[in-house]
Amino acid sequence: MAMRMSSLFLRTLRENPADAEVPSHQLLVRAGYIRRVSPGIYTWLPLGLRVLRRVEAIVREEMDAIGSQELLFPALLPREPYEASGRWDEYGENVFRLKDRKDADYLLGPTHEEMFTLAVKDLYSSYKDLPLSIYQIQTKYRDEARPRAGLLRGREFVMKDSYSFDLDEAGLDKSYQLHRDAYVRIFDRLGFHYVIVQAMAGAMGGSKSEEFLATAENGEDTYVRCPHCGYAANVEAVQVPVPDPLDATGVPAAHAEDTPDTPTIDTLVAHLEAAFPRADGRSWTAADTLKNVVVMLVHPDGTREPLAIGVPGDREVDEKRLGAQVEPASVEAFEEKDFARYPTLAKGYIGPGALGLEQSSGIRYLLDPRVVDGTVWVTGADESGKHVLDLVAGRDFTADGTIEAAEVRDGDACPSCGHGLESARGIEMGHIFQLGTKYAEALDLKVLDEHGKLRTVIMGSYGVGVSRAVACVAEGNHDELGLVWPRELAPADVHLVATGKDDEVFRYGEELTRALEAEGLEVLFDDRRQASPGVKFKDAELIGVPTIVVVGRGLAEGRIEVKDRRSGERREVAVADAVREVLAEVGRA
Ligand code: ATP
Ligand code: MG
Repeated sequence: MAMRMSSLFLRTLRENPADAEVPSHQLLVRAGYIRRVSPGIYTWLPLGLRVLRRVEAIVREEMDAIGSQELLFPALLPREPYEASGRWDEYGENVFRLKDRKDADYLLGPTHEEMFTLAVKDLYSSYKDLPLSIYQIQTKYRDEARPRAGLLRGREFVMKDSYSFDLDEAGLDKSYQLHRDAYVRIFDRLGFHYVIVQAMAGAMGGSKSEEFLATAENGEDTYVRCPHCGYAANVEAVQVPVPDPLDATGVPAAHAEDTPDTPTIDTLVAHLEAAFPRADGRSWTAADTLKNVVVMLVHPDGTREPLAIGVPGDREVDEKRLGAQVEPASVEAFEEKDFARYPTLAKGYIGPGALGLEQSSGIRYLLDPRVVDGTVWVTGADESGKHVLDLVAGRDFTADGTIEAAEVRDGDACPSCGHGLESARGIEMGHIFQLGTKYAEALDLKVLDEHGKLRTVIMGSYGVGVSRAVACVAEGNHDELGLVWPRELAPADVHLVATGKDDEVFRYGEELTRALEAEGLEVLFDDRRQASPGVKFKDAELIGVPTIVVVGRGLAEGRIEVKDRRSGERREVAVADAVREVLAEVGRA
């Protein structure tokens, strides 16, 4: 049934909503696709729902094509499975929890690993049942700290999530590749630019992990790529190439020096330059210093643990990279009151002397991988106004391990070929990863193998942000007039605008609408009698159906107009050829 503008449940707005900052959010609200109910929670209006359904249809087709089977879990879930996996606590404040009338705990599913695992455990018990791939397209709930940009980061959103179940690693590799291929087809059809980047497997364990990022300047994810070899990785997953150890024979013994009023790297470098000129003649730089940053980790059970990180002084600790490494713990600042509890830490002058589980502070100390044995540093002497010079890693100090938490910069060496990296931003649209046995172990999912022995099932996990895709496509497909949908996602194939006062125009508009529908097209017919042509054209441009057909004054001479929304090109066609011409325009000839 055609949608008629005279009765369609729609009000377009001329002004951007006050809370909308990014174009997709502004336009989806203005063009009447969605309405905000609460931060990060939206109503899908008829036009928006059509686009959402079209995205779902693409995802469903491609999932079905790789033999994945659709099912649907509830969103309202009991606590127990999440307790068993440890995630009732791990999820922290991100999960919506509630109680039923008997005071039993429930949650609104933020992701469904537990449910998938238990469902397979419930029904299957033999290797003969594997491999298996199952998926759902379902509403998820996450109490995001910063819901933003409309559908891009919602607190209620639609996700396609699927899981593969295999007996061995080789099977997992195959399932993973099938999904990867399906994702390439899905994102090609959705029509936005994307990159596939290496990603962190995160707290969930497992090994191989990749993200599909839609390239977007205002995206929340930063990724790096190597223009030379094609390496691409989410910044959180970048592994710094570890240099070879250096030979430090000949480096003088470490010596502590007075460096008054040098609590920052800049003040320290200036002081070194003035008071301790280097023997090799070059200037001191921030990269010669070792900066020790202490943060407070908050574990899911609420315990707090200080963590010290040593990075070259020319680099900051990157919050996101650090966060990804310490997950599921969260990171908080190390405050004055914390310093008071650890008196051996001299604020501004913290050095390896006080750090490490074996040292006076008992604080775990992790180093940037660049701080290899034999490297020489200037660093804090654990006393206000003092630094140590000629401190050699491995000779004079050790740490409890390494951590990938330093910022990644443009020009840093590519881990794969050594060329300079470039950074760019994107929006995470999909995520595939080899989950391994984490959930199968936690929830005891085992099957009998061909020798009658119990084996833990190996899982893969694969997600697509379905509602996020609607925003993402809008973000990449608009101009100053409004949205411009790719054909496969548009809420209609044709936006037919009847203009003027002439009854014949509206009668013919109705006739053409029916004729196009008979050919299988979906038509949005602007049959409003009161609205001016200007208003109608503006609405058509805002709504963004890719083909606009105008029936107006020319009809008396047997002509109508067919317009391409994207290029703005328009051409007149004879009424006698109208159906054929429109079909050709929409690519259905
Ligand atoms: P992000 O890093 O953006 O928070 P995530 O890594 O937590 O996402 P996953 O658990 O991997 O997300 O979920 C799979 C997909 O669901 C993501 O790739 C993304 O497209 C989508 N998604 C995740 N969170 C949201 C959200 N709050 N709103 C809309 N879509 C989301
Ligand atoms: Mg993810």
